[in-house]
Amino acid sequence: MKKIVIIGAGPAGLTAAYELLKRDKSYQVILLEEEKEVGGISKTVSHNGNHMDIGGHRFFTKEERVEAIWKEVMPFQEMENAFQKDKRDKVFLIRNRVSRIFYENKFYDYPVSINMKTILNLGIVRTFTCGFSYLKASLFKKKEKNLEDFYENRFGKKLYSIFFQGYTEKVWGRSPKKISKEWGEQRVKGISILACIKDNIIRLFHLKNKNQETSLITRFYYPKHGPGEFYNELAKKVEELGGVIYKNTKVVKFHKKKQKIYSVIYLEDGLEKELAADIFISSMPIKDLIEGFHEVPKKVREVAIHLPYRAFVTVGVLVSSLSLKKGKDGKVPDCWLYIQDDSVKLGRVQIFNNWSPYMVKDTEHTFFLGLEYFCDEEDEYFKMSDEEWRDLAKEELKKTGISDSPILDYHVLRVKKAYPAYFDSYTNFDIVKKYLNSITNLYCIGRNGQHRYNNMDHSMMTAIKCVDVILDPSLKKEDIWNVNTDSNYHEVKHVKEN
Ligand SMILES: Cc1cc2nc3c(=O)[nH]c(=O)nc-3n(C[C@H](O)[C@H](O)[C@H](O)COP(=O)(O)OP(=O)(O)OC[C@H]3O[C@@H](n4cnc5c(N)ncnc54)[C@H](O)[C@@H]3O)c2cc1C
Repeated sequence: MKKIVIIGAGPAGLTAAYELLKRDKSYQVILLEEEKEVGGISKTVSHNGNHMDIGGHRFFTKEERVEAIWKEVMPFQEMENAFQKDKRDKVFLIRNRVSRIFYENKFYDYPVSINMKTILNLGIVRTFTCGFSYLKASLFKKKEKNLEDFYENRFGKKLYSIFFQGYTEKVWGRSPKKISKEWGEQRVKGISILACIKDNIIRLFHLKNKNQETSLITRFYYPKHGPGEFYNELAKKVEELGGVIYKNTKVVKFHKKKQKIYSVIYLEDGLEKELAADIFISSMPIKDLIEGFHEVPKKVREVAIHLPYRAFVTVGVLVSSLSLKKGKDGKVPDCWLYIQDDSVKLGRVQIFNNWSPYMVKDTEHTFFLGLEYFCDEEDEYFKMSDEEWRDLAKEELKKTGISDSPILDYHVLRVKKAYPAYFDSYTNFDIVKKYLNSITNLYCIGRNGQHRYNNMDHSMMTAIKCVDVILDPSLKKEDIWNVNTDSNYHEVKHVKEN
């Protein structure tokens, strides 16, 4: 029996284990997970009966093989019952995607809509300036050298400065001029003014748009009790199929001879333990993976240990009221708000009540919010105490006019490597990739495992492809790296109409 060690029990690691055990009974599968629970950064965290995501995790995919796994693990709410209560405990609910951009004390639709509200918010003069700058950008396209060029070519300088510049700077902590255009390709893909106008017309006339861009999707799936519910169920399936998950085990070193890994060393209760295997699948950050090897070519190590990441802090805050404008039904509709305004450090606010009413203990009288902040691990912000985070959250909720309510309860979550970044040593990433591919029995999957801005579905897809490659020697490791690359994206299926 061949033994496979999978590092990390997040979406990618769990999917690799599930696919392998389902498709070939001759493998022994062991997962090593550093944390005490599964799900990685897609888990759900519970605090005094209220639940929060690390961010907010929308389930949406164009990958049929990923959607098939979602369905195998947990049923989907039927479309005709959408937005009604579902008595089943473990089920994907259908949710309405409502999100807005907060800028200069006004709210704009997200994705940006070219409608009367936007024109009134911007004012006639600024609307014309935006129109002219868009026309100019369409006629004289820039050579795209960085993310700023990427946005300007699609939206014009003026709209870019209003809707993208400030938020991008908050997320990455640097000017879009210093960020690779590759991030735009990953994040917003084919979104442009033309795509927005087309989408608005389609919605206006209720036409079907099979090619709708990922960021324009208006509905999504969400497990009744948060994304962690799905990953706990997936972990159960892995164990039912014979897989073993060791929690609280952190992989720190590798024993490697020439181009083959023999064993991993992991820490458990402060003790080093060794585990040998035939094949190793890694979803741990590439920087940590390379640090765990004894002998690595100097050039490879240099690039890998300087790979950049952006850290992330979510402050879960329980309040009794929101000051935001309500919809016709008397409720605030948003799942989340983008805070473009640079007078506050706040980047985004989640309203977990609207993700699923089952996320909040008392939906009648309270709102559980997730205030999102982007920073670097070395920042003074990342090191702030929980009380300091609570105070900053309270101040910025008031300043943005989102809520002036006293904070009834709060919970702070810090994630060191939330965002693999596309700058600095990333420019030479190919050197690292080539080296990792040369290790014959190692497969890199997932988000930090590939240093790619992958969502859950693409992280899962890398795992599915990895199993394809392991089971079919005629396939190449490059197939795993090719998931969520631009060329691949344009080939894939149409969006399933929700
Ligand atoms: C704020 C935010 C919002 C997001 N929103 C969405 C969304 O709406 N929709 C969507 O599809 N995706 C979203 N994502 C992306 C999604 O979270 C990731 O794509 C997904 O979690 C990546 O899965 P993964 O398994 O590759 O990595 P991870 O989730 O990071 O899991 C990796 C696992 O490996 C473990 N590990 C790491 N190092 C070691 C080690 N040395 N030894 C043992 N174990 C180790 C970790 O503890 C972790 O459990 C969001 C991400 C963020 C940060």
